[in-house]
Amino acid sequence: MILRRLIVAVPVIMLLTLVSFATVPSPQVGDAVRFAGLSFDEKAVVAAETAAPTVEPTPTQVPSPTVTLTPIPTSTRPPTPTATRDLRLQSARVPILMYHYLSVPPPDADVYRLDLSVTPANFEAQMKYLKAEGYTPIRVSDLSASMLEGKPLPKKPIILTFDDGYADNYEFAFPILKKYKFVATFFVVAGFIDEKRPGYMNWDQLEEMAIEGNEIGSHTLSHPDLKGKSAVVQDTEIAGAKLLIESRIGTPVTSFCYPASKYDSRTLATLRSTGYLAAVTEISGTRQTLDKILELQRIRVRGSYSVADFAYWIKYWLSK
Ligand SMILES: [Zn+2]
Repeated sequence: MILRRLIVAVPVIMLLTLVSFATVPSPQVGDAVRFAGLSFDEKAVVAAETAAPTVEPTPTQVPSPTVTLTPIPTSTRPPTPTATRDLRLQSARVPILMYHYLSVPPPDADVYRLDLSVTPANFEAQMKYLKAEGYTPIRVSDLSASMLEGKPLPKKPIILTFDDGYADNYEFAFPILKKYKFVATFFVVAGFIDEKRPGYMNWDQLEEMAIEGNEIGSHTLSHPDLKGKSAVVQDTEIAGAKLLIESRIGTPVTSFCYPASKYDSRTLATLRSTGYLAAVTEISGTRQTLDKILELQRIRVRGSYSVADFAYWIKYWLSK
């Protein structure tokens, strides 16, 4: 494990350099050979000098064999259907809950922080409710596997997502999730984690959560609004975050969350070309469709919600 971490512990700057390579022409094969310290040209010259001259044989025309037609036996088996069944799931009703802070907000918290903060006690009550109601939490990657490959969904699937990668997610949400044997998807701002920004989780914590079955998704490198941003910025933020998380914790990153739910057609194209399979928005709803797999709908869990409010809004959005 330590060895692997050493091997993958590539500084962010190298990753960003790799990303920038995507926008410039690839080095030629000859460059790679020179970089590897091999003298390709010298070997080629020696080979050319020592090789004996070869005489190409003159092709001779041979008569074509006479083909005897034999009757094809009539099969009694029904013909194999030529069309293969499409296993992809076109649509599914799956609530994707959106959390941010999972802690008692500080005394000086403003209205936004209060709204984004769910207390550990409320979160536990919500998980207890989901268990009692027979919901099965899955990850965003499970939903994309279901939609893209036909992997079956459990009965009453639900997805718990946490945006931004706050330290309280590990401290308070993770133990409660383990207690209920639930899994969640954590969308982290990879650059904040990598610079060890106070108030955010660290790579060891994320790796531990991933080992327990949680998914670590990408929420970009530095949390910009992506809408209207240049190709270079979008490539760096989207591909760079994926490379960074994958190199640090060793798990594939296939799910994405748009900062502030802001994106454009370039964002969608960049996600597709860099290997993401699904992305979540702040569009309210539970109607998830294959053609909008990069625009999955969510339900915001507000800090003010009682368990009754929580239950009400899940049922409300399931009925819409
Ligand atoms: Zn965010």
